[in-house]
Amino acid sequence: MTGIVVLGSAHMGLVAHAPRAPGRGETVTGREFRTVPGGRGVNQAVAAARAGGETALIGAVGSDDFGTLLRRTLTASGVDTDLLRTAEGPSGTAHTVVDDDGESAIVVVPGANAAVTSLAPGDETLIAAADTLLLQLELPLSAVLDGAGAARRHGVRTVLTPAPAQPLPPGLLAATDLLVPNAREAAALAGVADPRTAAETLLCQVPEVVITLGSAGSLYAARGRPPLPVPAPRVTAVDTTAAGDVFTGALAVALGEGQPMERALHWATAAAALCVQRPGSSPSMPYRPEIDSAS
Ligand code: ADP
Repeated sequence: MTGIVVLGSAHMGLVAHAPRAPGRGETVTGREFRTVPGGRGVNQAVAAARAGGETALIGAVGSDDFGTLLRRTLTASGVDTDLLRTAEGPSGTAHTVVDDDGESAIVVVPGANAAVTSLAPGDETLIAAADTLLLQLELPLSAVLDGAGAARRHGVRTVLTPAPAQPLPPGLLAATDLLVPNAREAAALAGVADPRTAAETLLCQVPEVVITLGSAGSLYAARGRPPLPVPAPRVTAVDTTAAGDVFTGALAVALGEGQPMERALHWATAAAALCVQRPGSSPSMPYRPEIDSAS
């Protein structure tokens, strides 16, 4: 049985470091270039698998070399890719310039991800046998809705990361058990910046919310209970890319193993804190023994 199914995106990040992002019609000479396998789907799947969850990814890579690399990244961390499709054409790509202030300018080209408009044969069977379905918003919304519907039909816990922030069809939140936005996404969805007020507003639509707050940790809220702040350990952060995905992947693993919410949140917080202390996204994700000894 696969405990965690991720329905989500796969992008190859093409990351250039340059003094500044080029303006219109301009060419800027950069210092360094890296390919970084990612996309919220790949990131959450790798994070969950490394945290010890039996994990599968549903989505699509392209028929190009990036598709092969993305697949290799997933299998190297133990993610089941049997239902990961190969769509004719290019993989999704994220063209990124990081400037000397550490600010990024990014163009995302969905590529193969755009082909995932609904569930394919076999996907629902995989979801039905899972404990948790992890969803984000980098695939066409029709597929995300399909996945949430399938999870609901089979009593599978649905965890939604509402990123990138956008207005959501009401049916999606109605089929979500746990919503995990960061502070910006929570403010966009709730229409208020204060996390406690945002959490209260969001609880009208979903039974449980965790708002992640970067170095300030997270805030858990459930209907009929006082909100629970979960502090993050004080660490030297060198790269916070994918911190939210590590947090969510580890949280899903802990909940799937039956840990109570508060303990699961502390464990996920320890996992995310390990990730931010190292450079890179998927390469910096911690494995279970490290999370156990840090928590
Ligand atoms: P996202 O990556 O989705 O924007 P956040 O920045 O809120 O999400 O980070 C997710 C989680 O990662 C936080 O709730 C926290 O547990 C952990 N985290 C992020 N930044 C730091 C940091 N500087 N120090 C310690 N933990 C961090």
